[in-house]
Amino acid sequence: MTNAKIIDGRALAVELRSEVAQKVAAHDLKPNLAVVLVGNDEASLIYDRNKQKAAQEVGMDCHIYHLEENITEVELLELIDQLNEDVRVNGILVQLPLPKHINTLNILTRISPEKDVDGFNPYNAGLLLNNSPYAVVPATPKGILYMLERVFSDLSGKKAVVIGRSNIVGKPLAALLLNHNCTVTVVHSKTLDTESIVAQADIVIAACGKPKIVTENWIKPGACVIDVGINRINGKICGDVDFDNVQLKAGYITPVPGGVGPMTIAMLLLNTYEAFARQNHFNF
Ligand code: NAP
Repeated sequence: MTNAKIIDGRALAVELRSEVAQKVAAHDLKPNLAVVLVGNDEASLIYDRNKQKAAQEVGMDCHIYHLEENITEVELLELIDQLNEDVRVNGILVQLPLPKHINTLNILTRISPEKDVDGFNPYNAGLLLNNSPYAVVPATPKGILYMLERVFSDLSGKKAVVIGRSNIVGKPLAALLLNHNCTVTVVHSKTLDTESIVAQADIVIAACGKPKIVTENWIKPGACVIDVGINRINGKICGDVDFDNVQLKAGYITPVPGGVGPMTIAMLLLNTYEAFARQNHFNF
């Protein structure tokens, strides 16, 4: 058995970020991203600082609004309203998860759809379901599609199984793949006989947050395996896929780290640029 080809998310993300930097440099105005972080979750703080650094590296302005854990929902909604109204701000992103006393859907719904660079506002989710070219596609699914389009010249008719049905990965990804004419099955924690369903797939996308749950027995020889999971075992990061064994059977595979993660940040930058370009009536 030959080893799978590695889909190098890091290298693809470098290319994409340089394309975004070129687009940004073509304008006198700078795209401006507002990142809203509530509380002191260390992982969220690191993610947001990485996003800020990445945005600045492609020539964007990016400010992190770091709020106390005990901020009320009303106060957070007021900040969103201010950012919606501020013409200097092109993109708004609220880091999830929010503290339990805040209703996440209320917050995401309040972000103006044209500034919703995460694509989590239900309006954008609805546009995606309708296969509208105006939908803001969430960054992780958008990055995954970009990688799949590098592997397959035509996704039409491919059997895709998405493992996980979250609002930020599984569901939008399933919609996106349907829009690209894949035959899509979504499995989740209540699915019976997940293994035999996954074993029929040409494309497997693991987004369930269960370390190394996808083993080689789940994989059809030659399948393309995209690993979204970010888990830690004894401090070491691993995905939802048992990489060492699955890569002996798959045709293509993404590593963790260095696969979907870097693509997510690159696509967030692209979404921010696209929001900026739409708001200023530039072609993109
Ligand atoms: P989530 O909200 O926790 O959702 C996990 C999903 O997986 C749920 O739909 C759950 O089913 C399903 N699931 C749980 N156990 C399962 C099992 N044994 N078999 C099949 N499905 C199962 O997670 P998320 O936010 O989508 O994130 C998923 C993973 O991706 C996490 O590791 C996260 O850190 C990572 N992630 C990475 C990136 C990136 O850029 N690389 C971006 C986002 C997320 P139920 O709905 O039935 O509970």
